Amino acid sequence: SDLQQLILDRIRDVPDYPQAGVLFKDITPLLADPPAFAEVVNEFAGLHRVDKIVGIEARGFILAAPAAYKAGAGFVPVRKKGKLPSETLEASYDLEYGSATIEVHRDAFAPGDRVLIVDDVLATGGTACAAVELVRRAGADVVAIAVLMELASLKGRERLDGVELHSLVIV
Ligand code: IMP
Repeated sequence: SDLQQLILDRIRDVPDYPQAGVLFKDITPLLADPPAFAEVVNEFAGLHRVDKIVGIEARGFILAAPAAYKAGAGFVPVRKKGKLPSETLEASYDLEYGSATIEVHRDAFAPGDRVLIVDDVLATGGTACAAVELVRRAGADVVAIAVLMELASLKGRERLDGVELHSLVIV
């Protein structure tokens, strides 16, 4: 589609970042292009009727916050451990080397809130899976996950068992 081409033309492949052998998808050219940024945000905002949109630190914030504003929903940050000031819930997941922990405020949602989770890239799915767990433990309903780009070869989709996934582009 036109939107898919608009996105693909504005994501830059950076070889060997952040480490040798990794081909990093850099979304900054897309963010800097007014029509592309607006269309992506509008697409996320129009996916589902929700109470809150969760953004995953850090690039997820950039997409989730304007989508929440546009949708008339609240914005909730999921952050790396140690960054949120009040009481949190945490979830850990394995990385290729070591592990990572993310957090959300315990009181971020009203009971039964309908939630959309937004991030820039779905790779192995570890981050998105942990975010789903956090939102559920905080008492809300995950309606769907939305990402700009899904890296299909890493099979992240398979880790999201049952949660609806919207990928604006799949590569
Ligand atoms: P996963 O947990 O392996 O699915 O990795 C997804 C998380 O890592 C997301 O929060 C992304 O922002 C980040 N990420 C992984 N690969 C890339 C990439 O190529 N470009 C931008 N972000 C990436």
